[in-house]
Amino acid sequence: MNEPLLPRLFCLGVRGRFLFIKLLEALKLAQPEAAELSVIASVNRKTLGLKRRFSPDRVLLLLPHCLQFHECPRRITFDIKNCVRCGGCVVGALSGLACEMGVEARVTTGGTLARRLLREKTPGLVVAVACPRDLGQGLLDALPLPALGVINARPNGDCFDTTVSTEKVRGLFDLVLQR
Ligand code: SF4
Repeated sequence: MNEPLLPRLFCLGVRGRFLFIKLLEALKLAQPEAAELSVIASVNRKTLGLKRRFSPDRVLLLLPHCLQFHECPRRITFDIKNCVRCGGCVVGALSGLACEMGVEARVTTGGTLARRLLREKTPGLVVAVACPRDLGQGLLDALPLPALGVINARPNGDCFDTTVSTEKVRGLFDLVLQR
């Protein structure tokens, strides 16, 4: 069976709404990041609404570099398997989860690398973790690819020692992976 893509009309609608809310943000008529949050909610809802299950080898888990503990010397952007799962940050648990699920996980340093990975890997589904701004833009860039976005927590401020609920990521895998 062919893997699904999100419908063209839906993608146009998401892009149009994003631009409209951005305009409202500029006019101070909407909260900052409201446009990105709208993209994330719409794409997640639509992707889950497909009610499709994907072979794990067609799923790519994209993680932001800021999840890594800032003093960790391991070069996980080169290969997440360089993480020794010491428990110093959430990357170890996510790397273990990806292995358990049979899904490839990659750590990105930004949108350019994420776009390149999507071009090279051509996954059927991407599960991405990031802050609202990067995630919203990333899901827009990935359209019409089905995608699920998980917003990271930023207890130390933006882009620094961030974290994410592995249970939330596991819950999404449970909904969309073939068993
Ligand atoms: S879990 Fe992995 S990435 Fe995080 S501090 Fe330990 S070795 Fe580094």
